[in-house]
Amino acid sequence: MSKNLNLAKELISRPSITPNDAGCQAFIAERLQAIDFTIEHLRFGEVDNLWARHGNTAPLFVFAGHTDVVPTGPENHWQFPPFTPTLHDGFLYGRGAADMKSSVAAMMTACERFIAIHPNHLGSIAFLLTSDEEGPAVNGTVKVVDYLQQKGEKIDWCLVGEPSSEERLCDVIKNGRRGSLNGLLTIHGVQGHAAYPHLANNPIHCFAPLLKTLCETEWDQGNEFFPKTSFQITNINAGTGAENVIPGDLELLFNFRYSTEVTHTQLQKQITALLDKHHLKYTLNWRHSGPPFITTPDILITATQKAIYEVCGYETILSTGGGTSDGRFIAPTGAQVIEVGPLNATIHKINECVSAEDIDTLSTIYQRILEKLLT
Ligand SMILES: [Zn+2]
Repeated sequence: MSKNLNLAKELISRPSITPNDAGCQAFIAERLQAIDFTIEHLRFGEVDNLWARHGNTAPLFVFAGHTDVVPTGPENHWQFPPFTPTLHDGFLYGRGAADMKSSVAAMMTACERFIAIHPNHLGSIAFLLTSDEEGPAVNGTVKVVDYLQQKGEKIDWCLVGEPSSEERLCDVIKNGRRGSLNGLLTIHGVQGHAAYPHLANNPIHCFAPLLKTLCETEWDQGNEFFPKTSFQITNINAGTGAENVIPGDLELLFNFRYSTEVTHTQLQKQITALLDKHHLKYTLNWRHSGPPFITTPDILITATQKAIYEVCGYETILSTGGGTSDGRFIAPTGAQVIEVGPLNATIHKINECVSAEDIDTLSTIYQRILEKLLT
């Protein structure tokens, strides 16, 4: 059995349901210490984080990721117990197999081989691992990044091992993410009897023309790296439950997934201007989940694409699709950040699994990237 597979099994057998690390990071730290990494365990609140570094010079290449997993759902629906890693028909089954314990295993073995061959490599390699990626993400990567900035550590290149692949291993590199902005809007009318509308003011009717405008507005045209900014109403609610009552308020939730062509303050201003233009009485609260980020094709992406081509024999696509990841906390430091990991088809599902061969291949790709950047 391959070293990668053994290591992935070791990690999956630890039931690290977020934010519990269940000893994963202690196990990883021990292995990294054996190849001369300097270990720092950083615990913030209930969350274990690990910073491990090999070398003291720039440039600094960071493998980032998480040791926590999402809950299993009903265990009796699993073909094999979720924390008893099982190899079946070439696939390794278990919670975290794809998201993202196999990538962590592949990073570790890639470093073990790379450092054995190049003990005096250029620059430094580090691991930034958290057990708070699948949870609220408050005491995880964001705090470690703060800590590193206070220490004056500057990350040049960061590879997040999130499952980015879609059809086959490493066919997609995520080189950015869209921003996400949420609004909670209340349109105020006047409640009344449905038979006496002249004594009421129906907030649904007042809002209707604006609904059409909101759905038809083009917020931007997107660009080379991002699709057009999208606006979606995710919840809408009004009414008292009675057939003969005009509601007093209409409440709605909406979400922008936005590109780098606009800012969240521009979007906020546009929404406010539209509300005012329609003479609506309203209350509006915003929650900004995160700005967009993009890593333009440069040294890191070029090295990664070449490494994948050499190992797999095919070209990769750059994408900014999908939800958020911890890359959003690392990119604002000025680091180049990409996500390269296994197939995402089974993540967060019952019977999560990964191809055992893919773990080996991924480890070879990671090693090849290190060779391109640090030798
Ligand atoms: Zn993940």
